[in-house]
Amino acid sequence: MDRTQPSKTWSLRDMIPKNHPRRESLLLREKLVEALENNILVPQGLIAHGRGECFDYLLGEKTQYFADDAEKVAAAMLLIAKNPVISVNGNMAALVPESIVKLSEVTNSKIEVNLFYRDEKRIDAISDVLIKNGAKNVLTEGNAVIPELFSERRRVNKEGIFSADVVLLAMEDGDRTEALIKMNKKVIAIDLNPLSRTSLTATITIIDNVIRAIPNIINYAMVLKKENPDELNYIISQYNNKKIISESMKFLSDRLAQLSKDL
Ligand code: ATP
Repeated sequence: MDRTQPSKTWSLRDMIPKNHPRRESLLLREKLVEALENNILVPQGLIAHGRGECFDYLLGEKTQYFADDAEKVAAAMLLIAKNPVISVNGNMAALVPESIVKLSEVTNSKIEVNLFYRDEKRIDAISDVLIKNGAKNVLTEGNAVIPELFSERRRVNKEGIFSADVVLLAMEDGDRTEALIKMNKKVIAIDLNPLSRTSLTATITIIDNVIRAIPNIINYAMVLKKENPDELNYIISQYNNKKIISESMKFLSDRLAQLSKDL
C-alpha cells in the first residue's frame, strides 16, 4: 500500500453524503478494505463480514434487548473471571482496536491474537494495531495446543487462551468455539448470526455487531466493577442463554412478518 497517499477511509468519509442511509455501513466496509491492504485481514474476512451485515440489516442495525441483556452478563462474567482473555482476529482488529484495548483494561483481561488463517506476519500486523491503540501486552506466541482441533487454529498461548477460564471472541468459527467449551472454558461470543454453530455452543451469545457490543460491555463493566462478587454471581446465575438465542430468532421472524404487513 502506498502510505504517501491519504487514507481512503478519510477520502470516502468526505465523499459519502452525511445523510446517506448506508453511510456507517459503507464506512465500515472501507475500514475492512484498508485492513486487507495492510495485511490485517484476509479476503475471507470480507465475506464473513458480509454475512454479518445481512443479519445486522435484519436486526435493524441496533442493539436489541436480548443483546443488551447478554452484554451485561458478559461484563459480569469477565469481571469475576480469574484469567479472562479477549481473542482477537483480523475482523476485530480492523473494526474495534481501541475498544478491545479499553475492554481489556476495564475488565483486566489479557489480549491474544488468534487467527483462523494463522500467519506470523499477519499476527504481527494485528499486534501492532493493538499496541498503537494503547495495548501494553499482546499475546501472540502459539506455544500450546487446543486438543481436538487439527489445523493451525489449535495453536494458542499458554498464559492466554490455553489457561483462560473465560474467553471473549467474535466472528469465530464453530469448531474452535466447541473445542474451547470442551476444555471447560466459558465462552462469550459476539456473532450477528444466531444460527451459527458458535452462537449455538457459546456460554453467552451476544447477537449484536461487535462495533456496538464491545462499547456496551465496557459501559456495563464500568458500572458493575463497583459491585461485590456475590452480586456479579447472582447476575450470571439468572442468565439463560437458550432463552436469549430464542428471543433473537423470534425478534427476526416478528420483524420480517411486520415489515411484510407494512408493504
Ligand atoms: P460457524 O462455524 O460458527 O457456524 P460461520 O461459518 O457462520 O460460523 P464464520 O464465517 O467463521 O462463521 O464467522 C463469521 C460470523 O461472524 C458470521 O456468523 C457473521 O454473522 C458474524 N459477523 C460478521 N461480522 C460481524 C460483526 N461486525 N459483528 C458481529 N458478528 C459478525
